[in-house]
Amino acid sequence: MKAIRIPEPYKIEVAEVEMEKIQKDDEVLIKVKAGGICGSDMHGYHGTSPFIKYPVIPGHEFAGEVVEVGPAVKDIAVGDHVSVDPIVTCGECYACKSGRYNVCSTLEVRGVHRDGGFREYVVIPASSCHKINKDIPWEVACLVEPFTIASQSLSRGSVSKDDIVYVAGAGPIGLTILLTAKSYGATVIIADIADEKLFRAKNIGADYVINSKTSSLEAFLEEHENIEGITLAIDAVGHPSIIEGILPNMMPTGRVVLLGFLKEASSLIQMEVTKRELDIKGSRLSCNKFPVVVDFIEKEMFDPRKIISHKFSFLEVEEAIRTLEEKPNETCKVVLEF
Ligand SMILES: [Zn+2]
Ligand SMILES: [Zn+2]
Repeated sequence: MKAIRIPEPYKIEVAEVEMEKIQKDDEVLIKVKAGGICGSDMHGYHGTSPFIKYPVIPGHEFAGEVVEVGPAVKDIAVGDHVSVDPIVTCGECYACKSGRYNVCSTLEVRGVHRDGGFREYVVIPASSCHKINKDIPWEVACLVEPFTIASQSLSRGSVSKDDIVYVAGAGPIGLTILLTAKSYGATVIIADIADEKLFRAKNIGADYVINSKTSSLEAFLEEHENIEGITLAIDAVGHPSIIEGILPNMMPTGRVVLLGFLKEASSLIQMEVTKRELDIKGSRLSCNKFPVVVDFIEKEMFDPRKIISHKFSFLEVEEAIRTLEEKPNETCKVVLEF
């Protein structure tokens, strides 16, 4: 069978690899149908991920059809369409035992720490597979994972319809947060430095957009007296200055959720947090959110296709990567079809 492989940084190829077989009773064999290319796949390509050992098969956003099930598999049958939670956890550590397996102390992600889903067939434990209605298009089914990231961050921020949500970053993650927050009925302001990205955000439902190159959240709030302040802020970029700009504009009781993975320090003023009793929380991957997102998609609460900018056959992966590299502002989610 064929698989996409990154043999070393800045090289990506379609290789002939051996097909995996079901080894454990609780596993299923999936014929992969579609996958979304994500920032971490690009980190793998650029050699900037500390977790990747080469060669690696990338891909942690994928969906497919079940073609074989192990003898102990009960809830999933041959022919089912499934979206795969790429997280591999220990089940034993403090985080796992407290139900928050997404921050397991030995956490691994398929496509990052070990081979992922960008191949024609893949074996996955049934417990990581989430059934999705057969009339949902594959390009949508493969995007459940990025929407679980949005769902997790909004649930960490206790989103409600009354919230004024500020999202920093209008890339694919920022847009999944936007669509999900809108489906809760919240007001969403989204900021970025690229007009093309803000144009897309506005088109798919952002109430307000801010170009952080030419304006700021503070200036925006001064201009919009109808908006008292931000009640929920989500930083999908992680630049140290972003949280510094967010804190003074938060309403009392506001929640600030951080998704960034950068190592630079921010200077936070304690008083800004204390006097308004703000919650500052991290959000990583997702925990029990696959069923939530599948349900939202099946009920058409939002349309994940709105974040897709390009589709390629997986055989054209080099061209897909080139497009992402050369057109960072015109591309959003790039989907590979298998
Ligand atoms: Zn992703
Ligand atoms: Zn664990």
